[in-house]
Amino acid sequence: MGRNKLCLLDLDHTLIYGSYAPTEKTELLFEHSQYLKVYKRPFVEEFIDFLNHFYTHIIVYTTAKKDYANRICNDLGIHALKILTRQDCKQKNNTYYKMFKSEWAKTYNSIHIVDDSPNVWLDTEYYDKQITFVVPKEFRGEADDMELLKLKELIKNIQILSKKVRLHSLLLHGIIP
Ligand SMILES: [Mg+2]
Repeated sequence: MGRNKLCLLDLDHTLIYGSYAPTEKTELLFEHSQYLKVYKRPFVEEFIDFLNHFYTHIIVYTTAKKDYANRICNDLGIHALKILTRQDCKQKNNTYYKMFKSEWAKTYNSIHIVDDSPNVWLDTEYYDKQITFVVPKEFRGEADDMELLKLKELIKNIQILSKKVRLHSLLLHGIIP
């Protein structure tokens, strides 16, 4: 197992807001159709730039459809290894669930799930030690939203915290005198 970091990244309400209203207060990313417009969360470019450099790989996992997801990833400049969409979800009672794959746990020793809806994830409970959920508040087009700046600091600190935990356990087990 390498010292690889994986980011499993959500799109809707985490990085963008798809709205049917004529206008919103925040910046437009693109018009998906005559009615549906996609808006950027404030500081999203800065946040994506940070993710692109910080993680070994990013896998986007969204319950949205493929063409919509591909356009968002392309326009935001997300360097995604893979884009998993609705067709990769499990549908149950009108809800789409995201399935955590055991191969991710084998490949990466640290996995961050950046998603405003942690409840839609299945099978993460088997990998508690490797997975950290990073949960922003749901974005609905607020122009003064600062969440992505906070998230960036939080993600940097998870690494520091887990390093401290590792050091502590090495000391505890007498590996480091
Ligand atoms: Mg979401």
